[in-house]
Amino acid sequence: MNKRAEPEDVDFLVESDVLNRLKPKMREAAAKIRRAILDGRSILVRHHADADGICAGIAMEKAVLPLVEKVNQSNDAQYYYFKRSPSKAPFYELEDVVKDLSFALEDQERHGQKLPLIVLLDNGSTEEDITALMQAKIYDIEVVVIDHHFPGELLTTEEKDGEIVGATVAVDDYVDVHVNPYLVGGDSQLTAGALATEVAHIINPEIKDTIKHLPAIAALGDHADCDEAHQYLDIAEEKGFDKEHATKVAECIDFEAYFLRFMNGRGIMDTIVGIDNVDKHEKMIEALYKEYQKRVDTQLKAALPNIEKTQFDNGIYFNLMDVEKFAHKFTFPAPGKTCGFVHDKVVKEVGEDKPIITLGHGPDFGVIRATDAVNEMFGFSVNTLVSELAIDIPSAGIDGGGHECAGSIKYLEGLGDEVLDDIVDKVKNMEKI
Ligand code: MN
Repeated sequence: MNKRAEPEDVDFLVESDVLNRLKPKMREAAAKIRRAILDGRSILVRHHADADGICAGIAMEKAVLPLVEKVNQSNDAQYYYFKRSPSKAPFYELEDVVKDLSFALEDQERHGQKLPLIVLLDNGSTEEDITALMQAKIYDIEVVVIDHHFPGELLTTEEKDGEIVGATVAVDDYVDVHVNPYLVGGDSQLTAGALATEVAHIINPEIKDTIKHLPAIAALGDHADCDEAHQYLDIAEEKGFDKEHATKVAECIDFEAYFLRFMNGRGIMDTIVGIDNVDKHEKMIEALYKEYQKRVDTQLKAALPNIEKTQFDNGIYFNLMDVEKFAHKFTFPAPGKTCGFVHDKVVKEVGEDKPIITLGHGPDFGVIRATDAVNEMFGFSVNTLVSELAIDIPSAGIDGGGHECAGSIKYLEGLGDEVLDDIVDKVKNMEKI
């Protein structure tokens, strides 16, 4: 069985040192997923509900479904043996895992189904995932994680020719295979959409042409900029998705995901990414994008006049905005995305090579976006900021994180002012590295 599960040896879609170092892990992930299909276990894919996560989920879906149908003859095998659900939070939440476990245990009891293999995409790498993963592990459920979020401190590292070729992090005790560029000296610029597409291609090489444009959409959605991202953009362009169109697609995915909430919206998403109902793709994008722009404009009209802009002595441009008071509630774009749009707008005015930080906050949360320059010049990282704040103000119940230059933070409302003051203080006093 393991021999049959062994994937074919295929080349990556792009040339990449990070991918080459990650290859053993990626092949192991592919083998685990292929093995679960052969075992008659269902594959339960959980992914972040943004353009990157959804591209990752779709790539995996397109690779797995044909194999599931080959192994299981029944008509609706693909619904029995494959499930894909978006997660609102950028980590595997207790809310998600209790749902997944309840359904899995009920299916086992009622239909004699085997417990699933859980595949977490664009989610699963951080310490925040551990509580949920621990519950899955109690039932000996296998878990594969393909993610690019910063996984926390590297506990052990293995080096070869001066390069990290393998490392372990906190979550590894609860995960069977962990694919993450940080474990081989890479970073989050290589998106989950790219990693999952490459693993999907290893699982089922026949679907290469169907999914090869997805990493470009993922990269644009996550604002990823690296050599691999450029190669993926070229691949997408060859397939008729130039940068402008792929950006629109990424934005339409986010827009539609907002309304789909906990549904995977398979049919609609396939149309949006141009995999199915291809004749309806252009019309769909045109319609969605128009509405998307209208709503973003409305939100920006409310938000832009209310940004407090400062430039600190260290050169950092700092933008502060109360997204709860000065943005429309319960509509698209939500506070986090609104902060992103405001940030992009300011960056366009000031210059993208300048150190710019934007903090959009409500009474008990903050969303942070920064230009790469802040990371390069000052060593800024949202994850570091969050852990420092948690030490400074232990009673504020601080939680959060994300990427170096994009992330969020939650805290107790009663200590909101203290947290905000501390963030401002820290930004003001950052020194060049
Ligand atoms: Mn992502």
